[in-house]
Amino acid sequence: MAEAREILTEIFPPQVIDSDLAEVGRRLFAREARFVAGASEASALLHDTLPEIAFAGRSNVGKSSLLNALTGRRALARTSNTPGRTRQINFFDLGARLMLVDLPGYGYAEAPKTEVRRWTALLRAYLRTRTALRRVCLLVDSRRGITEIDHPMMQMLDASGVSYQIVLTKTDKLGACELALVAERTAAELAAHAAAHPEIHLTSAFKRPGIAALRATLGSFALAAEEPSTVVLRGRPQ
Ligand code: GDP
Repeated sequence: MAEAREILTEIFPPQVIDSDLAEVGRRLFAREARFVAGASEASALLHDTLPEIAFAGRSNVGKSSLLNALTGRRALARTSNTPGRTRQINFFDLGARLMLVDLPGYGYAEAPKTEVRRWTALLRAYLRTRTALRRVCLLVDSRRGITEIDHPMMQMLDASGVSYQIVLTKTDKLGACELALVAERTAAELAAHAAAHPEIHLTSAFKRPGIAALRATLGSFALAAEEPSTVVLRGRPQ
């Protein structure tokens, strides 16, 4: 057990310990989050106005639940037991400081091929053109770890050069040892991916461990109160 905890501490984001960053994240996510727009084709994408954090993951990974937990809203993003229902990119303004972007869930076996092609093109256009995109949180169910269903997404992120970070979801379903194993396996797999950030976040939408740490990490990308929103248009930092 002690070993499991050590592994978890090593992989767990250090921000959780930094109380200043935790406070920045807490304050940011205490601001009002509101739905701004949904885009089902590239021409309907919003103009960049704020630094953006996008959330991706296979259908049913717990993306809507995590967005709701982060923002403290029960139904900001619609959770659903119908995998693959959300087929557009949804934009949520967080207190005029950060844009949270909900990408369509992938890997839904019953999705029609034309639909998969449409959203893949939309996603590619979004990833390639978005100068305000600071990071993609790639959600992975902690009970499964990264699977082959996630590989095309990871390849697309690597190819677009977009910095991304794995967020393990539903960690309340696992014990510390199982969690340490999956976190370790995930970290090892990330080493082969150029654009992947080495830190892994461990989250549960229900029990809340890890939510404060993720808020802290994302808080570092938000506009400071005095910054004009145009600063983000200068380009994406690598
Ligand atoms: P999405 O399709 O990725 O948006 O996934 P949802 O947020 O709709 O969640 C899919 C299912 O997983 C729902 O039944 C949720 O109640 C469940 N779920 C989501 N997050 C968690 C979590 O942190 N822990 C547990 N135990 N279940 C979760």
